Amino acid sequence: MANVRLEDIKRRFNNVTAIEDITFEIPDGEFWVLVGPSGCGKSTILRTIAGLETATSGKLYIGDRLVNNIPARQRDVAMVFQNYALYPHMSVAQNIGFGLQMRKVDSKIIQERVMNVARSLSLDHLLDRKPKQLSGGQQQRVALGRAIAREPQVFLLDEPLSNLDAQLRDDTRAELKQLHQELGITTIYVTHDQVEAMTLADKIVVLNHGRIQQIGDPQTIYASPANQMVATFLGSPPMNILPAIYENNGFDVSGQLLAIPAVVKEKLQLRQGHSYELGIRPEHIFINVDASACRRLPPTRQEVNESQLIVEVKVVEPLGRETLIRAGLPGSPVVLNIQVGGDVRPRPGDRLSLQLD
Ligand code: ADP
Repeated sequence: MANVRLEDIKRRFNNVTAIEDITFEIPDGEFWVLVGPSGCGKSTILRTIAGLETATSGKLYIGDRLVNNIPARQRDVAMVFQNYALYPHMSVAQNIGFGLQMRKVDSKIIQERVMNVARSLSLDHLLDRKPKQLSGGQQQRVALGRAIAREPQVFLLDEPLSNLDAQLRDDTRAELKQLHQELGITTIYVTHDQVEAMTLADKIVVLNHGRIQQIGDPQTIYASPANQMVATFLGSPPMNILPAIYENNGFDVSGQLLAIPAVVKEKLQLRQGHSYELGIRPEHIFINVDASACRRLPPTRQEVNESQLIVEVKVVEPLGRETLIRAGLPGSPVVLNIQVGGDVRPRPGDRLSLQLD
């Protein structure tokens, strides 16, 4: 096992800078997730660590070893891809044991290790099958097994769940987390899926346009995003962003005046007449009961009638445990995502009074 350290890594392809200013250190045994929209540079970082790409500049360490000029096969890392990349003519057992065979490990030891890995991934009854006789989820487990059997210092996983259907993806995600807890191998995981990032990561690295936006544990990133990109990328439905103008000691949001709690006013040095963007998560919006047909009470708050907005319901999506509401500010194109309890069921056209936490 090993820590992984990137110092000011940059990668250019001809005139295009794919990644730059990439600096972080993953402590030994942690599970880090690189997340961001397509094209933000996630795979380039992972491939650079694997040795499949060369950094244009910067330093890359695995453990204490500077590996910039060390070929991929000598870096002691194992990479799992989204398309499994299994050898079709080999059995499951041969696929799992392949890396060991290449290293000329004794065949008895290979057999033993393949069996152990297969057991831990519930593949032991499939060892004689060929990849095409397996489901997508089983094939991905074989690919994981092949990586585990090599006992690498670092695991690199590039969107390993994206070819699986929803239920299997959830199950495999949980298995991955358990596997990491058991093995404790330093893991770097690339995904564009924010649920995977939030659920799997010890630390998340949010990327955009080839640069790091924020590094932190999932809860910190969710509660204190560094910028608007991070705020709107993590969370589903995404954080609402409301254009507002600071006037008369409040925010004018499409003609409605929103009072600002004194504590917020003290923290932000707001300037009269200036434009701002207010961010609020869908689950931090409550419906004032007196103004709606809903029975669910908002939490008691002293400022209940001050930080309120009137909206008109456009779409209601009952999801069982919760209801998602899309509602517009009258006379404005701004649409809010609101997430409330499943027992709240307004109808399209209803006017609601919202309280913002
Ligand atoms: P992600 O994994 O986040 O989708 P990538 O790391 O694959 O993003 O790509 C980052 C940027 O680098 C993109 O603009 C992409 O087009 C560019 N890029 C990646 N690989 C190459 C390459 N081999 N040649 C030219 N441009 C590349």
